[in-house]
Amino acid sequence: MSSLTWPPLRDALVGEEPYGAPQLDVAVALNTNENPYGPSAEAADDIAEAVRSAALGLNRYPDREFTELRSALTDYLNTDGGQDLTPDMVWAANGSNEVMMQILQAFGGPGRTAVSFAPTYAMYPEYARNSLTEWVAGRREDDFSLDLEAARRLVEEVRPAVVLLPSPNNPTGTALPPEAISVLCEAAGNGIVVIDEAYGEFRREGVPSALELIGTHRNLVVTRTMSKAFALAGARLGYLAARPEVVDALRIVRLPYHLSAVTQATALAALRHADELLAKVADLRAERDACVEWLRTQGLRVADSDANFVLFGTFADRHAVWQGLLDAGVLIRETGPEGWLRVSVGTPAEMAAFREALTAVMADPSTTVKENR
Ligand SMILES: *Cc1c(COP(=O)(O)O)cnc(C)c1O
Repeated sequence: MSSLTWPPLRDALVGEEPYGAPQLDVAVALNTNENPYGPSAEAADDIAEAVRSAALGLNRYPDREFTELRSALTDYLNTDGGQDLTPDMVWAANGSNEVMMQILQAFGGPGRTAVSFAPTYAMYPEYARNSLTEWVAGRREDDFSLDLEAARRLVEEVRPAVVLLPSPNNPTGTALPPEAISVLCEAAGNGIVVIDEAYGEFRREGVPSALELIGTHRNLVVTRTMSKAFALAGARLGYLAARPEVVDALRIVRLPYHLSAVTQATALAALRHADELLAKVADLRAERDACVEWLRTQGLRVADSDANFVLFGTFADRHAVWQGLLDAGVLIRETGPEGWLRVSVGTPAEMAAFREALTAVMADPSTTVKENR
């Protein structure tokens, strides 16, 4: 093969930037939707003990089927929306990003198409690119909800192999009404519909999880992660629930022993502390609602949020606002449609720092760039 460029990347990758928010050393990091509350000392001790045990067996490959972990994840899901799930309906990998990449590897590919609705998670088109899957993005409404009729029409027209839909959506925080999931599962025919519930635990009281519909739709996959509500982003553990035959298909594309013994031990120990790790979710929801309200009193446009972040704007020069906040030690995310910014919900002290910094930036005539569209 001859190539004009070095290294000899395939054409689709030339000029591409690696995905990721800037990792900067700041006092107040509100940019990647992490849980600001780390595990307790007791949970950390239990994790350390479990990892020590695992370390004594590190000369051996780990359990390829991570049986014990799948069983513990199943028990947890059955307490949070899952109905009679069994371990053969649960799968895990190093973050839900890897889980979704495996879905594209198994069900996407050349001659097949993946669909989502923008603005949405910026990684989705990258899974498609990396798995040689065609990518089609429909649009969300101005309030970031889904026009269900238009969405159904697009799915029926494109016949995607995979539909990727986060609920709540990132970066807008918009949850999907349950009827939307059924409509799209039916419209998709034999296509797989992935409802990405990375922020599922933050959903409002009374909002059902898509897990409830797995018994109804054989093409429905619901992904979850321990990175957000579970306060375990550093451990890299994502998982899904689906029909056993769908899970079985993923076993074909996974790399051998993809979940290390250390990861399995860590996740199992963390699940024993689930109640405590999730204990701050209610506080974070309340802090989110307060943040939405406060931003609105500043005359800003704010998207309703069911997640642990808030999208707000609009600014003629959002980069200037982002930079102004960073100069004050508050790192948020420059993402979403032009003019919008996203702030993750932190501790009360972190949110106070955010409010103070944003007030100062908006009062500065050189960065007063508010633009209400
Ligand atoms: C954060 C996030 C994830 C989770 O990623 P992990 O790989 O599990 O850390 C998945 N989907 C969306 C939309 C997210 O924002």
